[in-house]
Amino acid sequence: MKRLSRKDIEAIANRVIRACMKLPEVANQPVYRIYPEILAESLLGLKIDYQHLSFDGSILGMTSYEEIGIELPGCDDSGEVYFLDGKTVLIESDLRECVEQNGRRNFTIMHETSHQVLKMLFPQDYGAKLHERPIHFCKANTVRRKPIEDWEEW
Ligand SMILES: [Zn+2]
Repeated sequence: MKRLSRKDIEAIANRVIRACMKLPEVANQPVYRIYPEILAESLLGLKIDYQHLSFDGSILGMTSYEEIGIELPGCDDSGEVYFLDGKTVLIESDLRECVEQNGRRNFTIMHETSHQVLKMLFPQDYGAKLHERPIHFCKANTVRRKPIEDWEEW
């Protein structure tokens, strides 16, 4: 199993940010922030889609490297599933409903996008175990006392 040090991860992050700065959308301009949508879609060729991911709003984002059908709360009982194509970052649609959720939405987009970055860089190692589910879910923890544990990985 491949292990990355903090230094390795920071080097990957710097590489991704430098590549993002060269995109036509932001090149030759003062850059005050990274736009997660531009990074995910223009740099990495991912698609961001917004759907209700759970009935209670506890799942904030999900992504998969493989093509897989998933059941979402909006799917009816006809057996219809949402098709995750392996290049999509799914974000809970409630996160774009109000400005107070912008930070959480940005974080969730970057979190799911980072799973895709690691898979692109280490396709043989990352998410390659047979028993692992090919979908990453990120769930909000409703306990607010410990912000560091605000995220739960499935
Ligand atoms: Zn995750």
